[in-house]
Amino acid sequence: MSAPSDISAARAAILERISLAAAAAGRAPETVTLTAVCKQQPDERVEAMLATGQRVFGENRVQEAHGRWLPRRGRYQDLQLRLIGPLQSNKAAEAVALFDVIESLDREKLAAAVADAVQKQGRAPDILVQVNTGEEPQKSGIAPGEVDAFIAAARSTYDLPVSGLMCIPPVDEAPAMHFALLAKIAARNGLATLSMGMSDDFETAVRFGATHVRIGSALFGARPVDR
Ligand SMILES: *Cc1c(COP(=O)(O)O)cnc(C)c1O
Repeated sequence: MSAPSDISAARAAILERISLAAAAAGRAPETVTLTAVCKQQPDERVEAMLATGQRVFGENRVQEAHGRWLPRRGRYQDLQLRLIGPLQSNKAAEAVALFDVIESLDREKLAAAVADAVQKQGRAPDILVQVNTGEEPQKSGIAPGEVDAFIAAARSTYDLPVSGLMCIPPVDEAPAMHFALLAKIAARNGLATLSMGMSDDFETAVRFGATHVRIGSALFGARPVDR
């Protein structure tokens, strides 16, 4: 699926499915943004995606994103880069410098590091809080029971522009209840952005209110290496 025409057709098909899912939920298609998750994809596929007009991209590693996007930033003024992977505190400054949105804020130490970088750089990416809706020990994200207090602290103590939530449901469970939980937490905290839904479950996510769906393999084809 690496030929440019295939990429273009894959994107058109996904956008169509997003539209249909939105319509079925009584939502306008433009209330759902497609984030093209290009982690580990070869540059030629990313170039083909850029050629379709796609401008919102998701990356899960700061270093990889840096190498890919720093040289391209100047060419695409309307690019929007979203960090969807876990972030280490010692990479916070680099992430604040590169990304327009950080979707993986999930602990106080990281909030402090991001806030510090925002102050030093005078640049404030939009922030989403990642919620570990399945309470999986190996997964990033804050536990549902701690999220309200964490959002309040991120806003008041660290003055971060928290605008929404992100989740990755457990692979072996039906995603709907996780999407519903995320939507409920967002509603009670007055948050408008819901980043949820991937290649296999984005239509369900749209039904539960996703404003951003993060799609990788269904758009670009399988990732060459899985790390
Ligand atoms: C890789 C990744 C995706 C995309 O996954 P696909 O199944 O390839 O669509 C979405 N969100 C996050 C956080 C990811 O790491």
